[in-house]
Amino acid sequence: MTEHATPTLDPSELPPMDRSMRIPALRERLGELGVDALVVSELANVRYLSGFTGSSGMLLVGPHEALFVTDGRYATQSEQELSAAGVEAAIEVSTESPEVAIARAAEGVARLGLEADSVSWSAQRRWSSELHHGELVATTAAVEALRLVKDPTEVARIRCACAIADEALREVAPRLLAAPTEREFALELEAAMMRRGADDLSFDTIVAAGPNGARPHHQPSGRPIAEGDLVVVDFGALVDGYHSDMTRTFTVGEVGPERTAMFDVVAEAQQAGVDAVAAGVPAAEVDLACRELLEDAGFGEAFLHGTGHGVGLDIHEEPRVSSRSTATLRPGHVVTVEPGVYLPEFGGVRIEDTVVVLEDGCERLTLAPKDPDPAAGR
Ligand code: ZN
Ligand code: ZN
Repeated sequence: MTEHATPTLDPSELPPMDRSMRIPALRERLGELGVDALVVSELANVRYLSGFTGSSGMLLVGPHEALFVTDGRYATQSEQELSAAGVEAAIEVSTESPEVAIARAAEGVARLGLEADSVSWSAQRRWSSELHHGELVATTAAVEALRLVKDPTEVARIRCACAIADEALREVAPRLLAAPTEREFALELEAAMMRRGADDLSFDTIVAAGPNGARPHHQPSGRPIAEGDLVVVDFGALVDGYHSDMTRTFTVGEVGPERTAMFDVVAEAQQAGVDAVAAGVPAAEVDLACRELLEDAGFGEAFLHGTGHGVGLDIHEEPRVSSRSTATLRPGHVVTVEPGVYLPEFGGVRIEDTVVVLEDGCERLTLAPKDPDPAAGR
């Protein structure tokens, strides 16, 4: 495992992202997708290909040309963003809906691909009844397959988001000892990330103390954090569209031998999972590395979810790291390793890192200490 000590903490210092080869790479896939042109409507995919960060934009990618359509609100912005990203695409500002403009440009395309995972049922019906007269082809993971392997500028953004989360936690973790409510602590953590330049939260922060920790996706409540609690804190920062994801579990005061043992075995399982990550390793094997240890300790039934997931422009994306995953890890995949144990009424422990897969192992991007004492080393 490699660890880099000095990640960029300042989002404004990130290297620019060159997207000029992404539409050509998608174009090369049109044949295997069985389409003559593809309509890209999923916003994260539009952003990946074009650099467009707004809320209304669609792309039509054909064999020789690409068209980006947006509405009047984004006329100037889209021009700036596409040009900064080095993207070669015609831009049309539509006064109707972008969908209608894309359909007009796609007239005469024999086999037109739509993104099956993001086109709604009603949109599909519009396409088939009014918008297109040729064949419509449902495609899956057309762009997502390109997004699997992150390039260095993407990893730099995730690394920066992780570093912001690390620093925010370092600042506020000792506050757990001052009996804040779960919600108050979540807000402090969130404010600390935003102050450090996060564009937004990666997802709704989880702070789950005491018995609430038994629910993996507990929403922070008005319950004050108290002596004897295990506190699960799962959170992340968003930087230039890219997410970070980290969980730490803290102990407040004396938690007793059972909770301590629970913490220790999850920490050991999590480390075994991180140690298992390397290029060429089936993702299911990383899951097994964690799961075996927890099963041996009698917590097999209490590990309620898969071991991890891909992280990038979406907080949960491919490859999944679970017992059912068929993915094999490749250099540049960014995944989480996050085993947990949840005992109803009693509490929970989860520890999670985001890592980038390397040829011979991985680099941990979330570097906050795992010591359960909120005041340790901070
Ligand atoms: Zn998480
Ligand atoms: Zn996660």
